[in-house]
Amino acid sequence: MPRPVDVEALVAGVRDGQRAAVARAITVVESSRPEHRVAARELLTALAEVERPPATRVGISGVPGVGKSTFIESLGTRLTSAGHRVGVLAVDPSSVRTGGSVLGDKTRMSALSVDPRAFIRPSPSAGTLGGVARATTQAMLVLEAAGHDVVLVETVGVGQSEVTVARMVDTFLFLTLARTGDQLQGIKKGILEIVDVVAVNKADAHEGQSHAADARVAARELAGALRLVRGHAEWAPPVVTCSGLTGEGVDDVWDRVGQHRDHLGPDGLARKRAEQQLEFTWALVRDELDQRLRSSAGVAAVRDDVRRAVLSGELPAPLAADRLLAAYDGDST
Ligand code: GDP
Repeated sequence: MPRPVDVEALVAGVRDGQRAAVARAITVVESSRPEHRVAARELLTALAEVERPPATRVGISGVPGVGKSTFIESLGTRLTSAGHRVGVLAVDPSSVRTGGSVLGDKTRMSALSVDPRAFIRPSPSAGTLGGVARATTQAMLVLEAAGHDVVLVETVGVGQSEVTVARMVDTFLFLTLARTGDQLQGIKKGILEIVDVVAVNKADAHEGQSHAADARVAARELAGALRLVRGHAEWAPPVVTCSGLTGEGVDDVWDRVGQHRDHLGPDGLARKRAEQQLEFTWALVRDELDQRLRSSAGVAAVRDDVRRAVLSGELPAPLAADRLLAAYDGDST
């Protein structure tokens, strides 16, 4: 039997910043169990009433191996030493397939994971990217209600995950390595369209030589590429160099994040968040409709027939879709 959720006690614990309560609250909001969904709604409604100044929400993306977790460990410990409370969440679409996640993995952030002023949570494996995004957005609200004033959302550059994360944060930071010329093509154009700050990481001595100069050259080229893609937009994303390993340049990256936030201003930030809320609302609706479709008894009754008919070439896809939709009985959940 699942433990019943005492929403009131949980809200009190979260407001107090108690780790166990925060962890449990995130489990409840991430859960897709029907009994948790009701509790999650109550919990989120109650937590929304907790008055806090808006936290700084930052998305951090880059290919595996670029140094995301090392960077977050360095940035996070600097922020907690400066008195901030830092939440780290992860959006990892591959965890949907593997059932596990390397992002937000505590063993990869050894100092931050034992830091009382930090809370790290790996990616939920919620079935779809939409499901992961929904769970992460709600986990973010729990962390903020618990007094975390900085939330870092880590993601890998797989599929649509960067766009999904960019839509849930105030500032989107992209980590890359020193690449020049043709290698620059390897950075997806879609990334250049959504980044707010870029950092060329590992600008330090490794493999027996200094890479700081390469990183600076790469940063200049990347800044040029960004100008081409973004034109004369209001915000020209700065490209800086850093090393998550030595910590050099990490403060500068954070300053740039702050500058982007200042550029948005309180009204711009409020507008951005309001628009994100609206997008999120529709994402929730799509997610719910998808769930209902999956659990519809009507659809279940014809699913195997339709599958067979499509696979054997008897039934064209549009007609198959019509049959499934006709069988959908709407509110069988
Ligand atoms: P992630 O997959 O993006 O999270 O990357 P990790 O943080 O796990 O780092 C991948 C590898 O690169 C590890 O072996 C790190 O030690 C190394 N690494 C990470 N950051 C830096 C850096 O700033 N400089 C150098 N030289 N190596 C780094």
